[in-house]
Amino acid sequence: MEKKNIDWSNLGFGYQVTDKRFVANYKDGAWDDGVLTEDATITLTECAGVLQYAQTCFEGLKAYTTEDGRTVCFRPDLNASRMSDSCKRLEMPVFPEDKFVEAVKAVVKANEAYVPPYGSGATLYIRPYMFGSSAVIGVKPADEYQFRIFCTPVGPYFKGGAKPITIRVCDYDRAAPHGTGHIKAGLNYAMSLYQIVDAHEQGYDENMYLDAATRTYVEETGGANFIFITKDGKLVTPKSDSILPSITRRSLMVVAEKYLGMEVEHRQVRLDEIGEFAECGLCGTAAVISPVGKIVDHGKEICFPSGMDDMGPVTRKLYDTLTGIQMGRIEAPEGWIVEI
Ligand SMILES: *Cc1c(COP(=O)(O)O)cnc(C)c1O
Repeated sequence: MEKKNIDWSNLGFGYQVTDKRFVANYKDGAWDDGVLTEDATITLTECAGVLQYAQTCFEGLKAYTTEDGRTVCFRPDLNASRMSDSCKRLEMPVFPEDKFVEAVKAVVKANEAYVPPYGSGATLYIRPYMFGSSAVIGVKPADEYQFRIFCTPVGPYFKGGAKPITIRVCDYDRAAPHGTGHIKAGLNYAMSLYQIVDAHEQGYDENMYLDAATRTYVEETGGANFIFITKDGKLVTPKSDSILPSITRRSLMVVAEKYLGMEVEHRQVRLDEIGEFAECGLCGTAAVISPVGKIVDHGKEICFPSGMDDMGPVTRKLYDTLTGIQMGRIEAPEGWIVEI
């Protein structure tokens, strides 16, 4: 397979058009079979449900080359089931989970020349998404939908090593109790843009959101779950019905317990206890883990003992083990690595 002439290690995290994408349409109560197409554009009615009432959800996963040269992706079945949860909450038709995984594979296969080589640090980012495509003016679900998957090569998330980031406690809320925080909907991101632009202007990398009802417990950032390491080496990760269930976080919980013999606690985490943790990180598909060095709560600085220069030692072990599993250097649990 002849790879594209791309400077893999200098790629950024941006969109670049690739050769083929998958498109399926839902009409008269049923999905068609879907096709791969070269057309990277969409033509829609001006009154489409997605444009008027934001009826859309998405997923994100990666394909990459393992040490022994296989093209694989990581736990796509979990993206399929999470997308079906998102669709149900937004009154959208579920795209069958087995067909979702098949379509992901088909898109990667059709764009294999864009899958970065092993060791480059780059990956092929895969974006499945669905939206209401028929006209809606009275508030109701659309009658027709489109499900698409495109992919785009992205560079290593951290060029020159993962530097710990600084996070502020945000005064705005991300998700209401019994709201939509647990699904991967575009609407959760639209309302976070104001806060992230402001955070960057104030010199912070990310926002920490608290539970909206009591503002006592830690939820997550706009696009990643928190992990904390206690001084005696336990993994603690916040539990709440309004947190998006990160596949990376769920995988790290297994890695901690089964591979590293750590104790794992999935529980409510109070804002006023985070100063007691030894290490902190953010986890998600894009970076796997971003180390957090400092959290600022209205002028009060919480500095983790792991400091601002490097990932903490336990976070590092978690990161090395999970990326080792993904890259085929460490044996994976059954079903985690799906060959294309
Ligand atoms: C996608 C996402 C995550 C990370 O989930 P992964 O499955 O690990 O990529 C975390 N929080 C939010 C709000 C997200 O949208």
